[in-house]
Amino acid sequence: MTEGHTVVLGGGCAGLAAAWRLGKRGISVVLVEASDHVGGLAGGVQFGGNVYEYGPHIFHTTDAELLAEIKELMGDDLLPYKRTIQIKFLGGYFKFPLSMTEVFFKLSPWTLVRAAASFLYHFTVGALSRPSVENTETVLQRYYGDVLYRIFFKDYIERVWGIPPSEFSPSFARQRIPRLNVLEIFDKFATLFWKKARGGLRTEGYVEKTEGGLYTTREGFSMITKRLGERLVQTGCEFRLNTRVQKILREGDRVIAVSLTSQGKSETLPCAAVINTTPINECTLSFSPSLGAGIDQAARSLRFRALVFVGIRVCRPQVLPASFMYFREHVFNRITDLSHFSFDIDPPGSTLLIAEVSCDPQDAVWRDEIGVKEAVIEDLERESILDRSEIEETVVFRAQHAHPIYTLGHEDALQSVLKGLGMLENFETAGRQGRFQYVNTHVAMKMGYEAADHLIERMV
Ligand SMILES: Cc1cc2nc3c(=O)[nH]c(=O)nc-3n(C[C@H](O)[C@H](O)[C@H](O)COP(=O)(O)OP(=O)(O)OC[C@H]3O[C@@H](n4cnc5c(N)ncnc54)[C@H](O)[C@@H]3O)c2cc1C
Repeated sequence: MTEGHTVVLGGGCAGLAAAWRLGKRGISVVLVEASDHVGGLAGGVQFGGNVYEYGPHIFHTTDAELLAEIKELMGDDLLPYKRTIQIKFLGGYFKFPLSMTEVFFKLSPWTLVRAAASFLYHFTVGALSRPSVENTETVLQRYYGDVLYRIFFKDYIERVWGIPPSEFSPSFARQRIPRLNVLEIFDKFATLFWKKARGGLRTEGYVEKTEGGLYTTREGFSMITKRLGERLVQTGCEFRLNTRVQKILREGDRVIAVSLTSQGKSETLPCAAVINTTPINECTLSFSPSLGAGIDQAARSLRFRALVFVGIRVCRPQVLPASFMYFREHVFNRITDLSHFSFDIDPPGSTLLIAEVSCDPQDAVWRDEIGVKEAVIEDLERESILDRSEIEETVVFRAQHAHPIYTLGHEDALQSVLKGLGMLENFETAGRQGRFQYVNTHVAMKMGYEAADHLIERMV
């Protein structure tokens, strides 16, 4: 490999994994991270005696190699975890994944008849012809019928993502929401009437898809990223925290340096190679000279949805009946109770709630800390979840690049950007932000490994 450091941009799961892989191959790594700690979205915010997580996060993977590495890293600190989810629909709470029996008994007979008729209509029409332009709405109507689509998906998607499903790429529905086929429906009805009831509608892809066993730690996911950071220091990785990459400097098809700023000071760091895990749109636009007007324009069209988190410490051991609860009529779309996660919460006998508010950075809610706190507390009281007199501490924190937004046509823009970046000999991009993909931590880490492996292959 060429002399000099390999620079990893971003210290989330993907960046840490890339640096880990490179370090194991004896490659000298400098990791640049804008925040004062590593972990990115899987990190968390230290406040008082507790870590408030972005989410929070559960570790899960079916990848044997990665699971073995994380088990070796964490030892007895990795704890099995059982997730429970409730979703509020039509004034009632549904367990998730949705159980056919529950849907059957909680929806009114009239709604069930309409749902069955609309499912059969859309299923038949969809089998005979496809609309000339597909989007998430047309796909979900075909999967579920218009009635169930409107009840379970339309408003929720619009609230979380800020755009209606009709402006969403069909790939969002295809990748994230499994199809409910007619044979499955017959099977479910047969199960319901003639056999012992079992299973639920296959809707697990609607929220974060989980694969393999679920794990947590007494300090949440951030304990994993913190431990990984410590391991990297032991292997000689140099960390530049509180440091932002401003420019990526190139000569022809080679990256030669990155320009960094830290606490008002600028520095140009020459490098042998770069692995990027920061948001792909910003990274692409930071090249000097630019990668070209067409690529820059494509990068500008890729957008992320932001989340504001309101963390609340409550003087009660547990507040919610499930680990995660989803709502559509409140300012928050999801709320989590960390007491369900085996967390050590300080002081004992209290719990942490984390409410997630979807927005764009130009929305008032993004900046208005007092307003968003008050709106969340009012909604919690309205839902009879808690009384404000029980609240001991609140903290507001933010993730500007929480979810890539799969707008119509984003695939072409992404391909154009990836093609442009792929021309560079000593550059790789990886992770949820770096590849604009709605993936979980284990996939982001595998992407980090793969980026390191590609770089090693290309550079030797
Ligand atoms: C609310 C929520 C809940 C989730 N729950 C789960 C879960 O339970 N389980 C799971 O497996 N996954 C979950 N995920 C997905 C998971 O968070 C991501 O897959 C993973 O954290 C992505 O890691 P990453 O390294 O690709 O990106 P990130 O974690 O975003 O890391 C990117 C890093 O780059 C840094 N950065 C950005 N710009 C610059 C710059 N200019 N200079 C220097 N540094 C910069 C950022 O500070 C950040 O640390 C969840 C995601 C969200 C939003």
